[in-house]
Amino acid sequence: MNTERNDAPAASNFIRNIIDDDNRSGKWSQRVETRFPPEPNGYLHIGHAKSICLNFGVARSYGGVCHLRFDDTNPEKESVEYVDSIIDAVRWLGFEWQKDGTEHLYYASDYYDKLYEFAELLIERGKAYVDSQSAEEMRANRGSATEVGTPSPFRERSVQENLDLFRRMKAGEFKEGEHVLRAKIDMSSPNFNMRDPVLYRIRFAHHYRTGDKWCVYPMYDYTHCISDALENITHSLCTLEFEDHRPLYDWILNELAEAGIFTRPLPQQIEFSRLNLTYAITSKRKLLQLVNEGHVDGWDDPRMPTIVGVRRRGFTPESIQLFCERIGVTKVDSWIDMSVFEGALRDDLDEKAPRIAAVLDPLKLVIDNFPEGLSEPCSAPVHPHHPEQGVREFPISRELWIERDDFTETPPKGYFRLFPGNRVRLRYGYVIECTGAEKDENGNVVAVHCNYFPDSKSGTEGANNYKVKGNIHWVSAAAACPAEVRIYDRLFKEPQPDAGGRDFLEALNPDSKRVVNAYLEPGAHGALPEQRYQFERHGYFVADRVDSKPGKPVFNRIVSLRDSWGKPA
Ligand code: ATP
Ligand code: MG
Repeated sequence: MNTERNDAPAASNFIRNIIDDDNRSGKWSQRVETRFPPEPNGYLHIGHAKSICLNFGVARSYGGVCHLRFDDTNPEKESVEYVDSIIDAVRWLGFEWQKDGTEHLYYASDYYDKLYEFAELLIERGKAYVDSQSAEEMRANRGSATEVGTPSPFRERSVQENLDLFRRMKAGEFKEGEHVLRAKIDMSSPNFNMRDPVLYRIRFAHHYRTGDKWCVYPMYDYTHCISDALENITHSLCTLEFEDHRPLYDWILNELAEAGIFTRPLPQQIEFSRLNLTYAITSKRKLLQLVNEGHVDGWDDPRMPTIVGVRRRGFTPESIQLFCERIGVTKVDSWIDMSVFEGALRDDLDEKAPRIAAVLDPLKLVIDNFPEGLSEPCSAPVHPHHPEQGVREFPISRELWIERDDFTETPPKGYFRLFPGNRVRLRYGYVIECTGAEKDENGNVVAVHCNYFPDSKSGTEGANNYKVKGNIHWVSAAAACPAEVRIYDRLFKEPQPDAGGRDFLEALNPDSKRVVNAYLEPGAHGALPEQRYQFERHGYFVADRVDSKPGKPVFNRIVSLRDSWGKPA
């Protein structure tokens, strides 16, 4: 991983300002402990990457630690498969959760005993009660934006009765929905989250970690703040939709501090804006729908904005970190353009990716005056800005593959490539002059013919005697490495596929995947899975990590060389 970039001073943001203030005042004795708390109910996406880069990045730059915590309190939706994929994704992005020999990997479900114990404590302190209204009654009594809520008829139950009912809820004596445990806060609060929120509900569900031990499960809002406090989190960073939940976060921790469970200072919740990326979807539910309905080839389809998807597409962890640094962290929800994401990838790979020639839409070129059977070595820099990386060698011979659109019989104005009578340079090879083309019975061009100038080879003295305006790439037909190349494009045609509540499936781009049989420079024979190249004139490509085998490579287009979306080809 690129440590230089990670050690560089990160763009300042308002969260750093808060931490700097805390460090100045000594609030946490210079300690910085954050957490990334995914629910293991799906694969992580690019929006989560923002949260990961922020939480782990902030902890790292202050010499602290970021915990990886599975927020697993919805037994029906969670699984080990998702846990494993999340662990992999965070590692791949370049982060770890060890510090001084301690693994900071946690599961909210490990806190079930404590959470239950604290709930009884809240009951004993008159801060929680068992409500036996139906779900509909509770909803109706919640009030509205203009009307205060109506207290439940069960709100004034005695501590003894509440304790008894709550214990019997836990013992499995009641049906789902018969009772819930609620915090006793304020039914007339302007903030709905403070109108006696539910803390526990009955669910007869199997949990992937605790099995059938529990039939009462804690709610997210109750679990989250307590998990933070149990883990000594200092700054609890979450997305803006939790802003209205912050008073509840503080209320619960404050009550437990009053009860002597936690000491102050208590963890501080700080909200930031979520990432919305154009031409992408960042809702786990909708991503699941794309997979389940077969609109894509799985969670790791290279068009998916999941971490496994962008990894398979060929994005680097460094480019994702760079992207997150560039977009920064603010309090204002906004859309980030996909071109910013792709730009970070180009900037990262331009420096790193070795170059090769690749013909994606092959047309035969025959050099009629080139001796049959002769193979002449040519060479080119591995990387134009890094001569120290040396040169790559490939042969030129009588028959080559060139790009179909590098030839035309009737050139439009300004076309400098091959047409009868015109001269171009075969990049790193010779200057040729086009003599004509062969066609099949339907009039399709099947081969182009030319002659070469033997004294025009690139890198020799004679090369400068030839002035040509066009320069095309090619590979030797005899030596080329044939390869399947998957040309990926944006998954959606619309920048905001789900804007205004419309059906995002209607915005699917029908041309988001095209498979071609290409010819690559012979060096590509040895490409290892996940090896990335710049295919000259085409863009950045990666050997597919699942399907590519050395000797039989399969490539994915990561991104074209320039942002050409929406412009005519
Ligand atoms: P769902 O889509 O199912 O509502 P979620 O996006 O809330 O799920 P979690 O697993 O709860 O997913 O998220 C883990 C963390 O990632 C949370 O702290 C959440 O705020 C953050 N996160 C999720 N989506 C984004 C996003 N688009 N931008 C920034 N952070 C995000
Ligand atoms: Mg969530």
